[in-house]
Amino acid sequence: MIVKAYGAHAGDQPLESMDIARRAPGAHDVQIDIAFCGVCHSDIHQVRSEWAGTLYPCVPGHEIVGRVSAAGAHVSNFKPGDLVGIGCIINSCKHCQDCDAGLENYCDQMVGTYNGPTADAPGHTLGGYSQQIVVHERYVLRIRHPEEQLAAVAPLLCAGITTYSPLRHWKVGPGQKVGVVGIGGLGHMGIKLAHAMGAHVVAFTTSESKREAARALGAAEVVVSRNPGEMAAHARSLDFILNTVAAPHDLDPFFNLLKRDGSMALVGAPSSPHPSPQVFSLIMKRRSLAGSMIGGIPETQEMLDFCAEHGIVADIEMIRAEEINEAYERMLKGDVKYRFVIDNASLAV
Ligand code: NAP
Ligand code: ZN
Repeated sequence: MIVKAYGAHAGDQPLESMDIARRAPGAHDVQIDIAFCGVCHSDIHQVRSEWAGTLYPCVPGHEIVGRVSAAGAHVSNFKPGDLVGIGCIINSCKHCQDCDAGLENYCDQMVGTYNGPTADAPGHTLGGYSQQIVVHERYVLRIRHPEEQLAAVAPLLCAGITTYSPLRHWKVGPGQKVGVVGIGGLGHMGIKLAHAMGAHVVAFTTSESKREAARALGAAEVVVSRNPGEMAAHARSLDFILNTVAAPHDLDPFFNLLKRDGSMALVGAPSSPHPSPQVFSLIMKRRSLAGSMIGGIPETQEMLDFCAEHGIVADIEMIRAEEINEAYERMLKGDVKYRFVIDNASLAV
């Protein structure tokens, strides 16, 4: 089937309307009419080939929500009409240690929702800035939020799981002081989730304008990280830091805020390296630097259910597809609270 999409033909070109093909659903496939798609900073990195290796045409989008419109003969868990989501993963080998553990995100053959290998035309996957997508049922998530929240659920499919997974892995909970660095799409979800898990959350932002807003998200304290005096007040006091910043920056001021044995996990994925760490920032207090990539399918379902139970959704600004280029420019200036979401109905016109 031919459907409408929004994408780019080259890294230095704006996104524009285009037609793409979707396969007919196979026996294990679920066909989804996409209602909304969140706009992740990874979409910008990819469509502009900031990570290199982008295949064109590039149709980004991996925060997908919608309704099942058809299901293959062997699909047992989903039926037409169900509210579902697709995140960053649409395939993997299905039999390695990582897949067996439900950690498809770490499978060597993980296929991303866009820019991944596929037998479908044009030979690489095309994402959620489109009217429809067809995905193997293993990678389809069930949405249990009320339907009126559907647009604000979309960002959970990447921003939600990318922050939930490390918060769980590093066992964030009551009695802990947790830092979230960078209050964008990921960071604002990190604050909400760490707060819901019972931690004392400290938000670190470069934007004075987010000081009050970050409190409303659940941060007990907010630090403008450009201010050394404010940073010093938290020296050696944090158990864990989740760093979501999308650009290279000096990590050492943040290590110095960790207690002995504290860890900082990087989830931000800038296109060039950070200029640090200084070894002594780590060895003096046996601190750790780590990374984390999205989350597996079972944990993504767990996160969606946790959010439904706790009434957690993203704070969003809805846009039409043709506003996407302007939305990218605003994201690069930090001018969004906190996630743009495309109304995919706007693709039809
Ligand atoms: P975003 O909405 O644009 O937020 C990034 C935030 O970083 C900004 O709002 C800003 O927060 C802070 N920042 C500080 N200096 C910056 C600078 N020079 N340029 C850009 N941001 C700066 O981005 P996002 O969608 O949350 O994504 C954040 C990063 O995570 C991206 O690199 C993305 O590719 C990556 N990512 C990784 C994974 C993974 O699996 N590890 C998954 C999804 C996304 P303040 O104003 O508060 O300082
Ligand atoms: Zn993403």
